[in-house]
Amino acid sequence: MSTAAPSAEFLGHPKGLFVCFLTEMWERFAFYGMKALLLLYLVKHHGFNDGDGYLLLGTYAGLAYALPLLGGLLADRYLGMRKAVLFGGALLVAGQFGMAYTGSPAAEGGRDALAVQVMYASLALIAMGVGFLKPNISTIVGRLYAENDARRDSAFSIFYMGINVGAFLASVIVGYVGERLGWGYGFALGGVMMAAGLVQFVLGQKHLMGQAEPADPARLRAPLLAGLSLEWLIYLGALLGVVVVWQVLQTRIDFEPLNRLVGGHQVTLTELVAVVLGTALYAWFAVLMFSGIDRVARGKMLLLLVLTTVSALFWGLYEQTYGPWVALAERAMDRSTFGLEWTAGQTTAIGALCVIAMSPLFAWLWPRLDRAGLNPGYAAKFAAALMLCGLAFGVLAFACAHPGADGLVSLWWMILAYVVLVAGEMVLSPIGLAAVTALSLPRVVGTMMGAWFLFSAFGEMIAGRLATYAAIPPGAEGTVSAAQALAVYGPFFTQMMWIGLGAGLALLLATPLLNRLTR
Ligand code: GLN
Repeated sequence: MSTAAPSAEFLGHPKGLFVCFLTEMWERFAFYGMKALLLLYLVKHHGFNDGDGYLLLGTYAGLAYALPLLGGLLADRYLGMRKAVLFGGALLVAGQFGMAYTGSPAAEGGRDALAVQVMYASLALIAMGVGFLKPNISTIVGRLYAENDARRDSAFSIFYMGINVGAFLASVIVGYVGERLGWGYGFALGGVMMAAGLVQFVLGQKHLMGQAEPADPARLRAPLLAGLSLEWLIYLGALLGVVVVWQVLQTRIDFEPLNRLVGGHQVTLTELVAVVLGTALYAWFAVLMFSGIDRVARGKMLLLLVLTTVSALFWGLYEQTYGPWVALAERAMDRSTFGLEWTAGQTTAIGALCVIAMSPLFAWLWPRLDRAGLNPGYAAKFAAALMLCGLAFGVLAFACAHPGADGLVSLWWMILAYVVLVAGEMVLSPIGLAAVTALSLPRVVGTMMGAWFLFSAFGEMIAGRLATYAAIPPGAEGTVSAAQALAVYGPFFTQMMWIGLGAGLALLLATPLLNRLTR
């Protein structure tokens, strides 16, 4: 693909890989640091009730995974990846610093309305920033390698490691700074590190071997409307988009039958948009199926659609780690190990640490299973992922039913639950990315990748919605006791366990049928 003289290498890979690695690492540092703090910040600082906190967490993260569809498209057609990353990074830095304005804590008189609005606007900036940065930094990685370069898979493994190193550092450091030194300091730290990552990207962009440039630079520069170039119109359009997202984030659909259907917590506008987008995607897919593609390709695409759909349910369970799992850690857990007392937000670091520890194991395992003819197909792996997810909730449900003498759950149960959960992530997340590239019709692979992330977005929203069923109204003094928390979380986690196990079993039973699709 590249005709440029090969840029200097590092550890057997193009230097550009490490430029992307560090950029994405600090982007994820900002994103996951924010996520580790967000629920606690909403509930403890701005006085949100549990349900509203969970829903905002879900709609915000959902938008952050849905907007890459737009950011990827604009970069492909017009901007090129490098400019998109720079613009997205700038929005991210602005959003993180905006979050640092925390105003005054909620009191009898109500919430600090200005600070809450600044927060919604900042979340919108971050979601749009992720939309421009995340898909494009990943695309650049792919473009640093020729079509048949055998190093491509290991490049993505290294890149996925960067994602999780960023997530781990974020939970440990931002979790501590935000909860112990002040919320604003935690959010600002995310901004500072994202800015450092961006400076690093600017300095390192020469190593991208010209692979991230706009398709037609002259067209991008030429004045198009009111003396403004296409490039500036895209930036202005995106800022307008931020204003729209700012409003969408806080809009609820107050329609009584719908409210009753979802147990009283009003449906959000984001959820409604998600249903429309999902329907449109299936409709597009149906049309594609009948556009004269051959039987084998059709079978593969159908399998891919099933896998992508299933992934939304997986993430719908998995992403509750930033919701009810954090709430459990905050309200009813003995969070000390080895003489150190962790904050509730810091417990989210366990997941990223498990990914870092298990990735090499699975990278070693698949080729070996393959050679022995024992590598299970995609459908079986996804079924296993759902069941492991269910089991992880089972571990927590058991722990909630068996607190220690102090009435608190031991952190070790959560560590065990994360180990089981991340084993599930390992057979679904990297495998899913590979499945998109292997099963998709080549001419729609970009769209299918966008669809993969769109279903992650649906997963985030499903997680927020499911969590509302674990919402606990605060007692008279405004706090939730450990006993009260355990009485709600135990049965709730048991239900999540059955969803995971049930869906996994159903998929397992359908596996022979699904395998036949690709034959
Ligand atoms: N944890 C991975 C990331 O942050 C994948 C998340 C997802 O696809 N939902 O990039």
